[in-house]
Amino acid sequence: MSTAPDPEIHWRPTVVEVDVAAFMRNVDTVRGMLPPGSRLIAVLKADGYGHGAVQLARACSRHHVAMIAVSLLEEAMKLHEAAVDIPILVLGPLTAHQIELAAEYEMVLGITGPEMLDAVAAVATRRRRPVRVHLKLDSGMGRMGLVESDLAEAATILTHAPFVQLDALYSHFSTASEPHSAHTSLQIERFRQMAERLRDLGVHAPLDHMANSAATLRAIVNPGDFVRVGMLLFGGEPIDGTRSGLEPVMRWTTRIARLKTMPPGSPIGYGATWTTPRDSCIATIPVGYADGYPYLLSNNADVLIRGRRAPIVGRVSMDLVTVDVTDIDGVALGDEVVLLGRQGDEIVTAEELAGRSGTISYEILCGVGHRVPRTYIGG
Ligand SMILES: *Cc1c(COP(=O)(O)O)cnc(C)c1O
Repeated sequence: MSTAPDPEIHWRPTVVEVDVAAFMRNVDTVRGMLPPGSRLIAVLKADGYGHGAVQLARACSRHHVAMIAVSLLEEAMKLHEAAVDIPILVLGPLTAHQIELAAEYEMVLGITGPEMLDAVAAVATRRRRPVRVHLKLDSGMGRMGLVESDLAEAATILTHAPFVQLDALYSHFSTASEPHSAHTSLQIERFRQMAERLRDLGVHAPLDHMANSAATLRAIVNPGDFVRVGMLLFGGEPIDGTRSGLEPVMRWTTRIARLKTMPPGSPIGYGATWTTPRDSCIATIPVGYADGYPYLLSNNADVLIRGRRAPIVGRVSMDLVTVDVTDIDGVALGDEVVLLGRQGDEIVTAEELAGRSGTISYEILCGVGHRVPRTYIGG
């Protein structure tokens, strides 16, 4: 949720700070990567990758962003209720009932298969009002979209549904983060062939879009095509080691809640998986796996305190984490602890936490729990 802490109430000190100005600079940096005529569809699914979709969407205008894409109707409705006036593309899939609602609220619908196209055509015909759609072609991801054998049926539906307005064809890359991927080339070729086949069947779309963050970074974008970019806007690295001037947007912090000195041989945390090897200063911080701080970071990550790295010791608990701060000069109760983001000259990136916990940066960002309040700066 995007509940800013009420300054009158003393909430827990564990918060996410979202730098809206950095997000907007990333939007501009990504726009600068695009070829002539191309525009950005900002992907803000999963509550803007955990940052807060409404706040980030409000910072954008139609000048910056052609559309906002989300996965769920619920996500689209939240933006609608927040009076976001940028067209919203719902990637889906949607249920039959959701298609009715989405049409009513004039969402642009990603068509995930012939059954959905049929359902949308029925709704549009009954309402006698246009429903705008983007038709997804499965060029090699294998999840959603029309496959070759669906094309004739889709063309028949479309040519008999005057209220279905086909704005775009699109597809999604599965290996664009890999260098020189033959599969990416194959997907581009398949997409071209499927679009051509649809044209032969009398179906024309004015616009194409294929590229995600990785493909945009690799400049695999035809002039005039739109791009659907999520991760780059949050300063993440969709390709290992390539940051391209993008800035992390999320800073996740807490404060030291308990500080104690322990003699050598003191076991710390569940399972007593770590024992003080010397006279140690142990800090306890009020965050845990229930907040999305991965259990797999037990004995396996650093946090930042006073601009320096300090190791997590013992297991990550549901609500608490313990840190060895013996080597942090001047450490004090209430010191800021950075779990993710920058402090002084040091930074902990989502990629670092992901690498240590065997996941991807996307899951780290989306996983920051709803009970961690988001605050917005620079907006
Ligand atoms: C999530 C998603 C994107 C954005 O992916 P990034 O790697 O974050 O840029 C683009 N297209 C579709 C269909 C998606 O589901």
